[in-house]
Amino acid sequence: SQKLEEGVKNGKPTFSFEFFPPKTAQGVQNLYDRMDRMHDYGPSFIDITWGAGGRMSHLTVEMVKNAQSVHGLETCMHLTCTDMEKSKLDEALKLAYNSGCTNILALRGDPPREKEKWEATAGGFRYAKDLVKYIRDHYGNHFCIGVAGYSEGCDDHRDVDLLIDHLKEKVDAGATFIVTQMFYDVDIFLAWLKKVRAKGINVPVLPGIMPIQTHAAFERRANWTKCAVPASWKEALDPIKNDDAAVREVGKGLIADMCRKLLANGINHLHFYTMNLEKATRMVLEELNLLPDLETPLEKPLPWRQSLGLN
Ligand code: FAD
Repeated sequence: SQKLEEGVKNGKPTFSFEFFPPKTAQGVQNLYDRMDRMHDYGPSFIDITWGAGGRMSHLTVEMVKNAQSVHGLETCMHLTCTDMEKSKLDEALKLAYNSGCTNILALRGDPPREKEKWEATAGGFRYAKDLVKYIRDHYGNHFCIGVAGYSEGCDDHRDVDLLIDHLKEKVDAGATFIVTQMFYDVDIFLAWLKKVRAKGINVPVLPGIMPIQTHAAFERRANWTKCAVPASWKEALDPIKNDDAAVREVGKGLIADMCRKLLANGINHLHFYTMNLEKATRMVLEELNLLPDLETPLEKPLPWRQSLGLN
């Protein structure tokens, strides 16, 4: 977890990759292969999401265990309060602990698929801050605990100042880092960060970056999170929207410029929402000159497939 917080490795900025549990066995195997390759890019950690309402949660726990113990990847497990009474939270935390995982992203969670509104579960928690406090109370400093930050509002509230108050409560409850919702407009993020710091929130903030894979996915995600898209991005991407290769190439430049601006403003860590895909994230890292020499990786880890008997 120290790696996660230090921000700069060998004089270079650090980065991390988010993955989610795939729905099929083939998808899981493909993802393990991809994680194997992306391990060589040198992320300081990877994180695995927690399915809404605990869907696929067994797989989150299993993937965390494999990433951590088989591959020696620093791993962060997302954990949510949705449909999770305390005994289930205990079970998940114990499994993470036993697999050597020392990082948890503590979240309230999305509502389960079939429900529109989020509801607390009897014997569980209402807010992420309650989960943060619970983990601190029961595990001391074993876990480095992250929480979510929203520079442009979230589904429940668009009031950014109110959300910063709630963010402060999560940090005061014991969170030691913040991962933000994805965004494209760096100026909005930097203005938000200034407010966050002015509130006395001093823990590292890891900006959430969504590389551009296709135009449709780019638009869908911007609409879904309601994040602002700079006019110049629309002008660059709209005319080529039906050419996936061109969108990826231009998108790479836009995302890399966004990252350069973040780095120039003192942000030393980039957190990539990979959407379980490799290419677009790799292109951005290449463009930023952040990939190690892949011909001579420092230490070749055991391939996932072999070590899991999945050949
Ligand atoms: P909280 O910070 O607890 O906030 C929840 C709501 O309660 C907010 O509206 C907040 O303003 C309000 N609130 C908080 N404190 C108070 C208070 N004292 N009084 C009144 N209201 C209050 N979802 C998943 O299901 N699985 C995942 O793996 C996952 N990963 C994510 C990763 C990141 C980086 C981000 C940004 C989000 C992720 N989400 C995930 C989505 C997240 O669970 C939802 O956005 C959820 O709606 C809010 O979660 P939170 O942890 O921010 O909640």
